[in-house]
Amino acid sequence: MLDNILIVMVNTTHSGNIGAAARAMKNMGLSRLVLVDPKAEINDEAIQRSSRAEDILHNAVITETLEQAIADCGLVVGTSARSRNIPWPLMNPRQCAAKTAQAAQQGSQIALVFGRESSGLTNEELHLCHAHVHIPTDENFSSLNVSQAVQVMCYEMRLASEVDKQSADEAQAWGVDWDHELASHAELNGMLQHMEQTMVDIGFLDPNTPKQTMARLRRLYQRAGVDKMEINIMRGMFSAMQRQQASLKTADNAEQDGDSH
Ligand code: SAH
Repeated sequence: MLDNILIVMVNTTHSGNIGAAARAMKNMGLSRLVLVDPKAEINDEAIQRSSRAEDILHNAVITETLEQAIADCGLVVGTSARSRNIPWPLMNPRQCAAKTAQAAQQGSQIALVFGRESSGLTNEELHLCHAHVHIPTDENFSSLNVSQAVQVMCYEMRLASEVDKQSADEAQAWGVDWDHELASHAELNGMLQHMEQTMVDIGFLDPNTPKQTMARLRRLYQRAGVDKMEINIMRGMFSAMQRQQASLKTADNAEQDGDSH
Protein backbone atom coordinates (compact mmCIF):
# COMPACT_ATOMS: atom_id res chain seq x y z
CA MET A 1 0.00 0.00 0.00
CA LEU A 2 2.69 2.53 1.01
CA ASP A 3 4.43 2.19 -2.37
CA ASN A 4 1.24 3.28 -4.14
CA ILE A 5 1.10 6.62 -2.32
CA LEU A 6 2.50 9.87 -3.73
CA ILE A 7 3.14 12.76 -1.38
CA VAL A 8 2.57 15.84 -3.55
CA MET A 9 3.75 19.24 -2.31
CA VAL A 10 2.57 22.30 -4.24
CA ASN A 11 4.77 25.45 -4.54
CA THR A 12 6.62 24.78 -1.29
CA THR A 13 8.63 27.88 -0.33
CA HIS A 14 10.96 26.57 2.39
CA SER A 15 13.71 24.05 1.68
CA GLY A 16 13.60 22.93 5.31
CA ASN A 17 9.97 21.90 4.94
CA ILE A 18 10.77 19.74 1.92
CA GLY A 19 13.55 18.05 3.92
CA ALA A 20 11.36 17.57 6.98
CA ALA A 21 8.59 16.09 4.82
CA ALA A 22 11.07 13.60 3.33
CA ARG A 23 12.11 12.56 6.83
CA ALA A 24 8.48 12.15 7.93
CA MET A 25 7.84 9.98 4.88
CA LYS A 26 10.87 7.77 5.36
CA ASN A 27 10.11 7.23 9.07
CA MET A 28 6.72 5.86 8.05
CA GLY A 29 7.96 3.82 5.08
CA LEU A 30 6.75 6.05 2.22
CA SER A 31 9.17 7.02 -0.53
CA ARG A 32 7.49 8.80 -3.45
CA LEU A 33 7.76 12.58 -3.20
CA VAL A 34 6.46 14.84 -5.98
CA LEU A 35 7.20 18.57 -5.95
CA VAL A 36 4.90 20.71 -8.06
CA ASP A 37 6.74 23.84 -9.25
CA PRO A 38 8.72 24.13 -5.99
CA LYS A 39 9.67 27.66 -4.94
CA ALA A 40 12.56 26.35 -2.80
CA GLU A 41 15.62 24.36 -3.73
CA ILE A 42 16.74 21.00 -2.49
CA ASN A 43 19.79 22.56 -0.83
CA ASP A 44 21.90 21.82 2.27
CA GLU A 45 19.11 22.92 4.58
CA ALA A 46 16.71 20.46 2.96
CA ILE A 47 19.26 17.67 3.23
CA GLN A 48 19.99 18.46 6.88
CA ARG A 49 16.33 18.57 7.82
CA SER A 50 15.75 15.27 6.02
CA SER A 51 18.11 13.69 8.52
CA ARG A 52 18.98 10.53 6.58
CA ALA A 53 16.17 10.64 4.06
CA GLU A 54 18.32 12.15 1.32
CA ASP A 55 17.40 9.36 -1.09
CA ILE A 56 13.80 10.56 -1.08
CA LEU A 57 14.95 14.08 -1.96
CA HIS A 58 17.19 12.82 -4.74
CA ASN A 59 14.42 10.68 -6.19
CA ALA A 60 11.78 13.41 -5.89
CA VAL A 61 9.86 13.96 -9.12
CA ILE A 62 9.37 17.60 -10.12
CA THR A 63 6.39 18.63 -12.24
CA GLU A 64 5.19 21.99 -13.54
CA THR A 65 1.54 21.50 -12.68
CA LEU A 66 -0.60 19.63 -10.17
CA GLU A 67 -2.47 18.03 -13.09
CA GLN A 68 0.77 16.40 -14.28
CA ALA A 69 1.58 15.19 -10.78
CA ILE A 70 -1.75 13.41 -10.31
CA ALA A 71 -2.43 12.32 -13.92
CA ASP A 72 -2.07 8.59 -13.20
CA CYS A 73 -3.79 8.57 -9.81
CA GLY A 74 -7.13 6.88 -9.20
CA LEU A 75 -7.61 8.62 -5.86
CA VAL A 76 -6.54 12.20 -5.13
CA VAL A 77 -6.93 13.68 -1.66
CA GLY A 78 -6.28 17.33 -0.84
CA THR A 79 -5.31 18.37 2.67
CA SER A 80 -6.68 21.63 3.97
CA ALA A 81 -6.63 23.59 7.18
CA ARG A 82 -9.99 25.24 6.48
CA SER A 83 -13.20 24.66 4.53
CA ARG A 84 -13.79 26.34 1.16
CA ASN A 85 -16.56 27.72 -1.01
CA ILE A 86 -18.56 24.76 -2.35
CA PRO A 87 -18.78 21.87 0.14
CA TRP A 88 -16.70 18.85 -0.90
CA PRO A 89 -16.48 15.31 0.50
CA LEU A 90 -14.50 15.64 3.71
CA MET A 91 -12.67 12.90 5.62
CA ASN A 92 -10.52 12.73 8.69
CA PRO A 93 -7.01 11.27 8.33
CA ARG A 94 -8.10 7.81 9.52
CA GLN A 95 -10.97 7.58 7.07
CA CYS A 96 -8.57 8.73 4.37
CA ALA A 97 -6.14 5.95 5.28
CA ALA A 98 -8.91 3.32 5.02
CA LYS A 99 -9.97 4.72 1.64
CA THR A 100 -6.34 4.72 0.52
CA ALA A 101 -5.86 1.09 1.59
CA GLN A 102 -8.92 0.15 -0.43
CA ALA A 103 -7.76 2.04 -3.53
CA ALA A 104 -4.26 0.56 -3.24
CA GLN A 105 -5.73 -2.92 -3.02
CA GLN A 106 -7.54 -2.26 -6.30
CA GLY A 107 -4.18 -1.37 -7.86
CA SER A 108 -4.65 2.42 -7.94
CA GLN A 109 -2.04 5.08 -7.29
CA ILE A 110 -3.06 7.55 -4.60
CA ALA A 111 -1.97 11.20 -4.28
CA LEU A 112 -2.00 13.08 -0.99
CA VAL A 113 -1.71 16.76 -1.88
CA PHE A 114 -0.26 19.45 0.40
CA GLY A 115 -0.46 23.22 -0.14
CA ARG A 116 1.69 26.31 0.12
CA GLU A 117 2.93 27.41 3.55
CA SER A 118 1.34 30.84 3.12
CA SER A 119 -1.99 30.11 1.50
CA GLY A 120 -2.61 26.36 1.27
CA LEU A 121 -4.23 24.95 -1.88
CA THR A 122 -6.38 27.11 -4.20
CA ASN A 123 -10.05 26.30 -4.76
CA GLU A 124 -9.21 25.11 -8.29
CA GLU A 125 -6.58 22.72 -6.90
CA LEU A 126 -8.94 21.45 -4.21
CA HIS A 127 -11.58 20.79 -6.87
CA LEU A 128 -9.20 18.38 -8.62
CA CYS A 129 -9.33 16.19 -5.51
CA HIS A 130 -11.89 13.44 -4.91
CA ALA A 131 -12.05 14.38 -1.26
CA HIS A 132 -10.46 16.67 1.29
CA VAL A 133 -8.86 15.82 4.58
CA HIS A 134 -8.79 18.08 7.58
CA ILE A 135 -6.49 17.09 10.43
CA PRO A 136 -8.51 17.77 13.58
CA THR A 137 -7.08 20.75 15.49
CA ASP A 138 -8.07 23.45 17.92
CA GLU A 139 -10.65 25.59 16.11
CA ASN A 140 -8.71 28.77 16.73
CA PHE A 141 -5.34 27.46 15.60
CA SER A 142 -5.97 25.01 12.78
CA SER A 143 -2.97 25.42 10.52
CA LEU A 144 -0.08 22.96 10.96
CA ASN A 145 3.37 23.35 9.51
CA VAL A 146 3.17 21.58 6.15
CA SER A 147 5.82 18.96 7.02
CA GLN A 148 3.99 18.18 10.26
CA ALA A 149 0.79 17.71 8.27
CA VAL A 150 2.76 15.30 6.05
CA GLN A 151 3.89 13.51 9.23
CA VAL A 152 0.36 13.04 10.55
CA MET A 153 -0.93 11.75 7.21
CA CYS A 154 2.02 9.38 6.70
CA TYR A 155 1.53 8.02 10.23
CA GLU A 156 -2.11 7.21 9.47
CA MET A 157 -1.06 5.53 6.21
CA ARG A 158 1.45 3.45 8.18
CA LEU A 159 -1.16 2.40 10.76
CA ALA A 160 -3.59 1.42 8.02
CA SER A 161 -0.93 -0.47 6.11
CA GLU A 162 -0.24 -2.58 9.18
CA VAL A 163 -3.86 -3.63 9.23
CA ASP A 164 -3.97 -3.25 5.47
CA LYS A 165 -6.04 -6.29 4.64
CA GLN A 166 -8.45 -5.76 7.49
CA SER A 167 -9.16 -2.07 6.81
CA ALA A 168 -9.52 -2.74 3.09
CA ASP A 169 -12.02 -5.49 3.88
CA GLU A 170 -13.91 -3.15 6.17
CA ALA A 171 -14.02 -0.43 3.54
CA GLN A 172 -15.18 -3.03 1.02
CA ALA A 173 -17.73 -4.63 3.31
CA TRP A 174 -20.68 -2.72 1.85
CA GLY A 175 -19.50 -2.87 -1.74
CA VAL A 176 -18.85 -5.29 -4.54
CA ASP A 177 -15.56 -6.71 -5.63
CA TRP A 178 -15.00 -4.24 -8.46
CA ASP A 179 -14.63 -5.48 -12.04
CA HIS A 180 -12.72 -2.55 -13.55
CA GLU A 181 -9.86 -0.40 -12.32
CA LEU A 182 -10.68 3.14 -11.19
CA ALA A 183 -10.26 5.78 -13.89
CA SER A 184 -7.11 7.87 -13.56
CA HIS A 185 -7.30 11.60 -13.01
CA ALA A 186 -6.31 12.18 -16.66
CA GLU A 187 -9.10 9.87 -17.90
CA LEU A 188 -11.69 11.57 -15.72
CA ASN A 189 -10.51 14.96 -16.96
CA GLY A 190 -10.83 13.85 -20.56
CA MET A 191 -14.40 12.70 -19.85
CA LEU A 192 -15.32 15.98 -18.12
CA GLN A 193 -13.90 18.07 -20.97
CA HIS A 194 -15.87 15.95 -23.43
CA MET A 195 -18.99 16.43 -21.32
CA GLU A 196 -18.46 20.20 -21.14
CA GLN A 197 -17.98 20.47 -24.90
CA THR A 198 -21.12 18.37 -25.49
CA MET A 199 -23.15 20.53 -23.12
CA VAL A 200 -22.00 23.62 -25.03
CA ASP A 201 -22.78 21.95 -28.39
CA ILE A 202 -26.34 21.07 -27.40
CA GLY A 203 -26.96 24.51 -25.90
CA PHE A 204 -27.19 23.41 -22.28
CA LEU A 205 -24.12 25.28 -21.04
CA ASP A 206 -23.33 28.87 -21.97
CA PRO A 207 -19.52 29.02 -22.16
CA ASN A 208 -19.66 32.72 -21.22
CA THR A 209 -21.49 32.09 -17.93
CA PRO A 210 -20.50 28.57 -16.88
CA LYS A 211 -20.83 29.39 -13.14
CA GLN A 212 -19.89 26.41 -10.92
CA THR A 213 -21.57 23.82 -13.14
CA MET A 214 -18.38 21.97 -14.08
CA ALA A 215 -17.02 22.05 -10.52
CA ARG A 216 -20.28 20.51 -9.31
CA LEU A 217 -20.27 17.84 -12.00
CA ARG A 218 -16.62 17.08 -11.25
CA ARG A 219 -17.55 16.68 -7.60
CA LEU A 220 -20.36 14.28 -8.53
CA TYR A 221 -18.15 12.02 -10.68
CA GLN A 222 -15.24 12.12 -8.26
CA ARG A 223 -17.59 11.24 -5.41
CA ALA A 224 -18.90 8.27 -7.37
CA GLY A 225 -15.37 6.94 -7.99
CA VAL A 226 -15.77 6.20 -11.70
CA ASP A 227 -14.01 3.23 -13.30
CA LYS A 228 -12.44 2.98 -16.76
CA MET A 229 -15.41 1.21 -18.32
CA GLU A 230 -17.87 3.82 -17.04
CA ILE A 231 -15.70 6.54 -18.59
CA ASN A 232 -15.91 4.74 -21.96
CA ILE A 233 -19.70 4.51 -21.73
CA MET A 234 -20.07 8.22 -20.89
CA ARG A 235 -17.73 9.26 -23.69
CA GLY A 236 -19.53 7.01 -26.18
CA MET A 237 -22.79 8.69 -25.20
CA PHE A 238 -21.32 12.19 -25.60
CA SER A 239 -19.93 11.31 -29.03
CA ALA A 240 -23.37 10.08 -30.09
CA MET A 241 -24.97 13.30 -28.83
CA GLN A 242 -22.41 15.37 -30.72
CA ARG A 243 -23.01 13.41 -33.93
CA GLN A 244 -26.75 13.84 -33.55
CA GLN A 245 -26.33 17.56 -32.93
CA ALA A 246 -24.06 17.91 -35.97
CA SER A 247 -26.54 16.11 -38.22
CA LEU A 248 -29.43 18.24 -36.94
CA LYS A 249 -27.36 21.32 -37.78
CA THR A 250 -26.60 20.05 -41.26
CA ALA A 251 -30.27 19.31 -41.86
CA ASP A 252 -31.15 22.79 -40.57
CA ASN A 253 -28.66 24.47 -42.88
CA ALA A 254 -29.88 22.46 -45.85
CA GLU A 255 -33.43 23.57 -45.10
CA GLN A 256 -32.37 27.22 -44.85
CA ASP A 257 -30.47 26.91 -48.16
CA GLY A 258 -33.61 25.43 -49.65
CA ASP A 259 -35.71 28.36 -48.35
CA SER A 260 -33.50 30.94 -50.01
CA HIS A 261 -34.07 29.50 -53.47
N1 SAH B 1 -2.62 29.57 5.83
C1 SAH B 1 -2.90 28.43 5.06
C2 SAH B 1 -2.37 27.21 5.77
C3 SAH B 1 -1.42 26.50 4.97
S1 SAH B 1 -0.65 25.28 5.93
C4 SAH B 1 -4.38 28.25 4.88
O1 SAH B 1 -5.14 28.82 5.62
O2 SAH B 1 -4.82 27.51 4.03
C5 SAH B 1 0.20 24.43 4.65
C6 SAH B 1 -0.39 23.10 4.27
O3 SAH B 1 -0.28 22.20 5.38
C7 SAH B 1 -1.84 23.09 3.89
O4 SAH B 1 -2.04 23.47 2.55
C8 SAH B 1 -2.18 21.62 4.11
O5 SAH B 1 -1.66 20.87 3.04
C9 SAH B 1 -1.38 21.30 5.37
N2 SAH B 1 -2.18 21.50 6.59
C10 SAH B 1 -1.93 22.40 7.57
N3 SAH B 1 -2.84 22.28 8.56
C11 SAH B 1 -3.68 21.29 8.19
C12 SAH B 1 -4.82 20.68 8.80
N4 SAH B 1 -5.30 21.07 9.97
N5 SAH B 1 -5.42 19.68 8.13
C13 SAH B 1 -4.96 19.26 6.94
N6 SAH B 1 -3.89 19.79 6.33
C14 SAH B 1 -3.25 20.79 6.93
